[in-house]
Amino acid sequence: MPDPATALLATIGQRVDLIDTPAAVVDLDAMERNIQRMADFARKHQVRWRPHAKMHKCAELALRLQQAGAGGACVQKVSEAEALAAGGVTDIYISNEVIAPAKLQRVARLARQLAGLGGRLAIAVDSLEGIARLAEAMDAAGPDGAGIDVFVEIDVGQGRCGVPPGEAAVPLAQAVARHARLRFAGLHAYHGRAQHLRGAAERRDAIAAAVEAARATRDAIQAAGLPVPLVTGAGTGTLVHEAASGVYGELQAGSFLFMDADYAANEREPAQPAFEHALFIKTQVISSRDTHAVCDAGHKSHAIDSGLPQVAFLPPERALRYANGGDEHGLLFADGERARLPAIGRMLWLVPGHCDPTVNLHGHLIGVRGGLAHGVVERILRVDARGAVT
Ligand code: PLP
Ligand code: MN
Repeated sequence: MPDPATALLATIGQRVDLIDTPAAVVDLDAMERNIQRMADFARKHQVRWRPHAKMHKCAELALRLQQAGAGGACVQKVSEAEALAAGGVTDIYISNEVIAPAKLQRVARLARQLAGLGGRLAIAVDSLEGIARLAEAMDAAGPDGAGIDVFVEIDVGQGRCGVPPGEAAVPLAQAVARHARLRFAGLHAYHGRAQHLRGAAERRDAIAAAVEAARATRDAIQAAGLPVPLVTGAGTGTLVHEAASGVYGELQAGSFLFMDADYAANEREPAQPAFEHALFIKTQVISSRDTHAVCDAGHKSHAIDSGLPQVAFLPPERALRYANGGDEHGLLFADGERARLPAIGRMLWLVPGHCDPTVNLHGHLIGVRGGLAHGVVERILRVDARGAVT
């Protein structure tokens, strides 16, 4: 059931031009083509894929991706995991460090819940302290508590969490293996900073170094007598390289599903599947002057951390430039010689700069079938993990 605000914007079966604004709209045909491209790509390279649900935050979409071959979902937060589990997702990886005892209790509870459903929970660690806290919480769940898969995170260039690659990871893997309730599942080796390096060669070089770091770490742990079942990582910007590496066995990319303006600005490598924009903010012009027009989508409708949105579906000579008009407004300028400012009431489509934090601003995504020009509202997707930041 959509919340009252979304219900005012759109109803099932309604024509797309009648969707009120500002609204987060998913072109379901484009999204499904992206899913098919990703599924084909993973099959061709014989890698698993576990798309990051921090992007779409919808249980329904996590399940749709699994139907297409994805092996479960990644999340970043315990509360995201709980929201997806409540929506029926049973194979979840929290690809992040969790330290607070109160949250680790919830992790232990969720591990048990998912195990009871034939699923499983996984989590990342990067310290002996973190492992000890996780083990304590898992043990405290009692004799009928479940186990949890644990990935040791290594820093392959992002400069965020993770131990340095190589020998530093060995004592962590050994500490995980010592606890009955913790299963050493492999290495988490995600290079976030590489995703938006603009040049294809820069991204290739960054991931070549990440692959070597992951390989050396895997070899060091195996030399110490522990098998490394899986190396997991990769985002939409670099997945072609991890997939071809022979070291990474699982891709975590999430943004490919919707694609955003920031990813579209990357120089594409030939092997990259041709993912297309599937998430749009529908907006309409509410004021117009000689110099500019004003639309009703500001940065409460779309995130601006990775740049302002772009006005979609206009030929280059009629391009409109979106400028920041504050929380609730966008300014539109017609810079090109043949560009004309849109009239009051005109509907426009924006491609957000960054899809993850944009989705997090909306309670529901309006799913349209048959294209954004003449399609109809087919379903309304609830953003189950909206605001789930704990
Ligand atoms: N894996 C991890 C750990 C991430 O933090 C992210 C995104 O930030 C991803 C995978 C997915 O990357 P993307 O949505 O850019 O494809
Ligand atoms: Mn992102």
